[in-house]
This record gives sequence, C-alpha cells and structure tokens, in this order.
Amino acid sequence: MVTPLGCDVAVLGAGVVGLSTAWLLARQGAAVTLLDSGTAGSGASLGAQGQLVPPSPELRPLWQRSLALYAELAARTGMPWDAEPPGTLVLSAPGAADTSRARTFPDAEVLTGEELRTLEPALGPLVTAGLLLFEGRRIEPAAAVGALLAEAAGAGTALRLGLGPLRLEEAGASGWAFVRADGERFTAPRVVIAAGAGARALLAPLGLRVPLTSVSGRVLVTEPAPFTLDHVLAESVIGVPRSVALLAHQTPDGGLVLGGSWYPHDEAEPDDLAERILRRADELVPGVERLRITAQRGGLRPFLPDRAPVVDRLAPGLYGCFGHGGEGYIAGPGSADLLVGLLNAEQDGRAAPAAEQQALLAGFRFGRWKEPT
Ligand SMILES: Cc1cc2nc3c(=O)[nH]c(=O)nc-3n(C[C@H](O)[C@H](O)[C@H](O)COP(=O)(O)OP(=O)(O)OC[C@H]3O[C@@H](n4cnc5c(N)ncnc54)[C@H](O)[C@@H]3O)c2cc1C
Repeated sequence: MVTPLGCDVAVLGAGVVGLSTAWLLARQGAAVTLLDSGTAGSGASLGAQGQLVPPSPELRPLWQRSLALYAELAARTGMPWDAEPPGTLVLSAPGAADTSRARTFPDAEVLTGEELRTLEPALGPLVTAGLLLFEGRRIEPAAAVGALLAEAAGAGTALRLGLGPLRLEEAGASGWAFVRADGERFTAPRVVIAAGAGARALLAPLGLRVPLTSVSGRVLVTEPAPFTLDHVLAESVIGVPRSVALLAHQTPDGGLVLGGSWYPHDEAEPDDLAERILRRADELVPGVERLRITAQRGGLRPFLPDRAPVVDRLAPGLYGCFGHGGEGYIAGPGSADLLVGLLNAEQDGRAAPAAEQQALLAGFRFGRWKEPT
C-alpha cells in the first residue's frame, strides 16, 4: 500500500534533531510530517545527561544558535533550563583515562584545586587543578523533548510515530518512500534524515556510505544530595573508549545527574558500570557513593570521524542532519536551523543559501571524509 504523506517535507527521526527540524520548518508554514520507529526521544535523546558546555570552535556557531532557540522554546513553553549560565568547572584529577586527551578551552580561567573548592565546596582533595568557563548550562532532556514535540505539533507537524523500523527507497516522481516492515510505503517529495545512530543503516542500501560509529553511554540520577553543586562539572578527559569519567550537575530538586561512560556500541557494557560511574564521581565529589540511585538512562552517541555532524543535501530531495555524537543538545537545534536555511534556499530556487550559511555548511558536508585532507 502506498500512502502519500501529503507534506512538503518528511522528517525521519523524532529525537532532538528531528523535532527541532520539524518545529522550525512547520512554524514557517511548511507542511511537515515527522516519522519514527518509536516514541519521541526514544533514541539517544531521552538518554542524555543534559549538559550544554562550550563545544569545539567548529561547533560553536551551532551551539550559540541552539542556545537562542532554547531561550525561545523556554519562553513559549515554560521549559525549565539555565537561562543564565552557572558556568562549567573542568576538572583535572589523578585517575583520568588518558591525560594526553585533556581538553583545552579558549577564554578559560585556570584555577588551582583550592580555588576550585572555594567555588564548589563539595569537590574533594583529589581535584588538583581545573578551568572555570563562563558558559555551561543544564537542560532536562525529557523537558526539552516534550517542549519541542509540543511546539512542532502546535505548529502543524503531522506525527507518525511508533511505525517500527523504516527503510528508505527512491520513489521516482513521488520523491522518496519510507517502507514499513509490512510493506506499507509512505512517500514525500523531500525528506530529512535525522535518524541519529540509525542513519548509517538507513542510507547504506542507497549506496550512501556514512562512517558513523556509535558509542554507548549511561547516566545515573540520584536522590537529593545533602550539598549543592552550583556549576556544571566535567572532567578534563572524557570520551576515551571503555572508560568512565565524572560529568555531574544538580537538578532543581537537589538530585545529581552523573555520567559518563563510553563503550563501543557492539561491546557489552560492564555489569558494574553504574558502580564504576558512582565510584569515579565519589573520588571527585566525596559522599556521592552513599546516594541512592533513583533512575538510570542511556543510549548511543552517533559519531562521525571528525566528531562533527552532517548538515547537507545527500541527493536530490534527500537531506541529512545526523552524527552529533555527545553534543546533540549542544549543537542539534542549531544544526537543524542551518539545514532549514538550506532547504529554504533550494525551495526558493536560489542556488545556495546566504554566504554566511554557506561558510558554515562547508564544515558539515556529506562525504567530506572521502576527500584528501
Ligand atoms: C549517555 C549520553 C549522554 C549524553 N549527554 C549529552 C549532553 O550532556 N549534552 C549533549 O549535547 N548531548 C548529549 N548526548 C548526545 C545526545 O543525546 C545525542 O547527540 C542526541 O540525542 C542525538 O539526537 P538525534 O535526534 O540525532 O538522535 P536520536 O535521539 O537517537 O533520534 C533518532 C531517532 O531516529 C529514529 N530512527 C532511527 N533509525 C530509524 C529507522 N530506520 N526507522 C524509523 N526510525 C528510526 C530513532 O527511533 C530515534 O528516535 C548524550 C548521549 C548519551 C548517550
């Protein structure tokens, strides 16, 4: 059975990226349908930690645009988030997985362990040095997904969720077709792939190679702590394969949100992963290990080799916005906005988007990994 979706654009993937894309397209008047195998956020988006720390220089324009969109979203929906940044403390301590991978940040203030403990008294003596970043905010993934879904639907997006895994095929004059396991086909003239870790498998049958690797991660939520954390806390070394490191912040009810872990998607996570995350957190913030875990969440971070997303046209009528790694909240809404600019330019018959957008898009092109560096 063929079901024309009757839309201008079909967006596949109801995570933070696809929801943002649908919202931004629909609010400017496009007829949009959002499709997903499951419910909104059921990929990586509801599993995330929810830290908005400054990313690498290449992603900063996307991050800044995301912050502006979150401010707008919060004003419209009441979504809780840090409208003003409490800032980030980037911590150095013995026991880090690979100190050669310590992160650097422009405009950071270098602090001693004592200075860090003055700012954040809950930090223990193992923290020897660190950086203070003016930026760094907290967002609650479930609240962000809920707000984006409400805004996308409120702007007229048609929701087709719970469809089970879809395949993508060319559909001649109809554009593109999503095919369900039972053979039902949904067609649309233009399609955006915002499928996170699922993008690789979706695009491979079309001969579109995406060197996406997925890294699993776990987040723990605790009961209210008997102390406060005023900043976003992040270890200087994060993301080393098969490692855990401290990522922490406090929610308004006093509970702690603790990460992080990085394991290849095709390897089992250690049975005692939660204990390992707690132990590392306790080394840097003593007392954490005594807190009761009230919830756990997690998912797959979809990484491209240069750790930047694809925001591009992949083929006529087919667009992609995926590969946000561990920074889908940081860069996702901003990259959706950039993609919408590209869609608008092509819809208007303009050959290319505005010069500023073109310069940005150049860093996120599909197939850039094929080119000699
Ligand atoms: C443990 C952890 C902590 C994180 N912490 C942070 C953080 O603090 N800050 C931050 O910015 N980022 C963080 N991230 C990263 C962030 O969660 C992701 O980058 C982001 O959620 C990716 O969003 P997405 O919309 O691209 O993908 P997803 O949320 O995965 O959405 C993709 C959707 O596409 C659907 N889909 C895929 N393939 C198909 C198919 N074939 N058919 C039908 N539907 C399909 C899936 O069902 C899914 O709903 C974290 C991630 C993890 C795992």
